[in-house]
Amino acid sequence: MSGQAIIDSLEFARTAQELQGKVPIAEMPRLHDCVLDTGGAVDFTLTGGRDGRNRRGLHLEVNGVLHLRCERCLGLLDFPVSILSDLLLLESAADFDREAELDEPADTIDADPQLDVGGLIEDEILLSLPISPRHAEGECEYTAEALAAVRDTAFAALAGLKK
Ligand SMILES: [Zn+2]
Repeated sequence: MSGQAIIDSLEFARTAQELQGKVPIAEMPRLHDCVLDTGGAVDFTLTGGRDGRNRRGLHLEVNGVLHLRCERCLGLLDFPVSILSDLLLLESAADFDREAELDEPADTIDADPQLDVGGLIEDEILLSLPISPRHAEGECEYTAEALAAVRDTAFAALAGLKK
């Protein structure tokens, strides 16, 4: 089962369905600007059900590792993805307004008869990414390749100044 599944979200929740699968990073183009390479994949489990107030929602778990680029050394930074999301399905704008007024509003998505599961997973991963990915202090490794990249960037900046 790949992430290219399309589900009717309300029906999926009503009938408490479960979907498991794997989505290759290569199939999530919106992540490509953020990663060093598009290797790897994430595993997911999507479960439909109802919350404590009998409202329909989706529970999403995503686990995997993304290959980010460390901003300091430009080297590979393995970033573990571990997402647990409960998403309330909104059927109308009134639903949204009601939820927004609560002290602790639930995370929500619009109910969609053709929800793209891969797209949803991609959204959730994008939300979980660090703004400025870096290795922990002292854990950077300056490879020859990274140093060359830093040098090229510096030369390019210099060349730009000279123009
Ligand atoms: Zn680093």
